Amino acid sequence: MKKLSRRNFLLNTGIAASTATAAVAIPSLFFTNDQKYTGRKLNIALCGLGRYASILADGFAYSEYCKLAGIITGTPAKAETWKKQYHIPDANIYNYQDFDNIANNKDIDLVYIVLPNSMHKEYTIRAAKGGKHVICEKPMALNAADCEEMITACKNAGVQLAIGYRLHYEPYNLELKRLGQEKVFGQVRLIEASLGYRTTDPGEWRLKKALAGGGPLMNVGIYCVQSSRYVSGEEPTSVTAQFGPVTDNKLFNEVEASIMWQLDFPGGLVSNCTSTYACGVDRFFASADYGQFELSPGISYGPFKGKTSNGELKFPDINQQAAQMDGIGKLILENKPLPSHIAGEEGLKDMKVIDAIYKAAATGERIMLA
Ligand code: NAD
Repeated sequence: MKKLSRRNFLLNTGIAASTATAAVAIPSLFFTNDQKYTGRKLNIALCGLGRYASILADGFAYSEYCKLAGIITGTPAKAETWKKQYHIPDANIYNYQDFDNIANNKDIDLVYIVLPNSMHKEYTIRAAKGGKHVICEKPMALNAADCEEMITACKNAGVQLAIGYRLHYEPYNLELKRLGQEKVFGQVRLIEASLGYRTTDPGEWRLKKALAGGGPLMNVGIYCVQSSRYVSGEEPTSVTAQFGPVTDNKLFNEVEASIMWQLDFPGGLVSNCTSTYACGVDRFFASADYGQFELSPGISYGPFKGKTSNGELKFPDINQQAAQMDGIGKLILENKPLPSHIAGEEGLKDMKVIDAIYKAAATGERIMLA
């Protein structure tokens, strides 16, 4: 079985992102075009059938290692629709009450939690107690203490815990990571990262503190924290932050409308970030000693566009969900530990920074991180 290096995988595809109009099937990360994986697939049950679960469900069509085998939903009508659309057997359909019976179901290997943020902890722990591996969507939980409980529960149950960080398998973001960590343009001194969109629905759970834990920082700002961390390859040492203006009193009476923050890193990088529900933005910019690199858009589902001081970046526009599930699924099938950058520890690191950002914005003080 001939394996491809990531570089060869990218060269082999020959697909330029600038000419792509929609996500294409990800060319195999692991095999050449004439080789296909024919072994057992990892059977995944999606828990929570909302908007992102539908995008993940579509991703299974491109997945080599994972299969949509089960669902957990509180809505019987959704169970019927999904059952027909994805050929899910009755025995693999659960609701939130009978979910724990999944422990007796050998046909499910992993539960993928795609619920509102406040429910991530409970369902991760219940899945782990049922002996199932877990992928939990971002943000991992409402705070760092909850993340620690989830990690402990999974360790105690002997199951693996991954966080749904799709950009860790996305070629443009992998390139950002390489450019930063390998200091291709020297030490990165400045990062500016912003992600936001305009929210208008007052009924959205993302605007309820109890369900979301916070506003745009929890939902999309987490990607700016992530990119700052994976481009530098370091953990921030201190944080300052400011809440933005309340642009709509009815929408933003529980969570922030926007927030700006600055992270200091030990190597001399300052990362200046914004996340907002007041307007649309999707950009990453880094300036290093001898050059610059940037993506815009670069954090959403693509197609992405970017350049460095040396010219335009061109990578394939992939199905990010399939790439992420395959990256995780292959290792679990092989009984190998997940690398820490995709495991619960990574979600915990982000949540420690997010906790500090909220504290800095609330107090106006610089918060030191261990
Ligand atoms: P959604 O509102 O579309 O779906 C949430 C699902 O949870 C629905 O099926 C809903 O019925 C169910 N649910 C159960 N109890 C609920 C309750 N008390 N209140 C509201 N809904 C309840 O949300 P979504 O966009 O699918 O987000 C779900 C999770 O996925 C979030 O944690 C989000 O951060 C994450 N997400 C990740 C990405 C990504 O790119 N990785 C993208 C979108 C969302």
